[in-house]
Amino acid sequence: VAEPLENYYAILRGRRRARYLECRSRKISFSRTVPDEEGWRIHREAMAGRGEVEEAETSLLDLKILLTARIMHRCHLCERRCGVDRTAGERGHCGVIEPRISSDFLHMGEEPPLVPSYTVFFSGCTFDCVFCQNWDISTRPEGGMYLPPEVLADRIERRFRGGEGRPFDMTPRNVNWVGGDPTPNLRYILQVLQSCRANIPQVWNSNMYLSRESMDLLEGVIDVYLTDFKYGSDDCARRLSNVKRYTEVVSRNHLQAAAQGEVIVRHLVMPNHVECCTKPVLDWISEHIPDSLVNVMRQYRPLHLAGDYEDIARPLGHREFMEAQCHAERLGLNLVG
Ligand code: SF4
Repeated sequence: VAEPLENYYAILRGRRRARYLECRSRKISFSRTVPDEEGWRIHREAMAGRGEVEEAETSLLDLKILLTARIMHRCHLCERRCGVDRTAGERGHCGVIEPRISSDFLHMGEEPPLVPSYTVFFSGCTFDCVFCQNWDISTRPEGGMYLPPEVLADRIERRFRGGEGRPFDMTPRNVNWVGGDPTPNLRYILQVLQSCRANIPQVWNSNMYLSRESMDLLEGVIDVYLTDFKYGSDDCARRLSNVKRYTEVVSRNHLQAAAQGEVIVRHLVMPNHVECCTKPVLDWISEHIPDSLVNVMRQYRPLHLAGDYEDIARPLGHREFMEAQCHAERLGLNLVG
């Protein structure tokens, strides 16, 4: 799997710097009161490799944090575009106000190239999946605890240094931002990275329902996008996750993720959804982002509210999974897991 994750492995081997370190070392000049439009123009220039000012006291990462904070005044971090002022304590659809961490630990159950993965689980989510396997986290945005960004950065640093020299190498290979979904916590994540020093890849583990603006802000920060591509049909997405324009938004963001990082796509095969969802999703990957790694997942369980939905009220059948797996193999996808 070295080729689809070439940049990731180069960071692990110390041959490249993680993108967030590059972003923080790019000096650009802007004022804290810069109008939005001008701030985005400076951002575009910087992302195109222009506008560096050696003596500037502000960095590209500082600008990204400022622009994220502006978005939160009329929140459109995700495509629900609630428009609430989260900085004034208003709750949008996800219910997240301040970032609450439900747990952070060394995850050994992710895809083999990612393990061990220092995983940070945020409370709350932008989706309402009736089958959510993490519903205890995703439906309680006020659960868990707030850690100041520099405290979490210190925990990351200590994990990164503390694993070296042990009998089994328990040094995390990445920081894995997940939930629920990490999207409502983008500003906080950038603030954590402002205090980090470790050359460690950053993984964005998400449902990929971000706004265009959030995707633009992730560019130059995230090394690997570990995505969920659940549905091949907007009707299924509306009925089971309460989201609109799913295929348009999520496919758009996958294209952007593949252009600005490396991608591992997860697809959870669900009972009775092989024809309407699994096959169209795998076909799309094959056509549009064939270099990505793909994990066709069989671990569906009818949790949370799934028992109320006849089509998904049972575990996945063996035949259904094999049909999905064989379809992926026929397409020649880079399968992992
Ligand atoms: S992140 Fe939350 S508040 Fe912001 S647009 Fe999405 S659902 Fe609404």
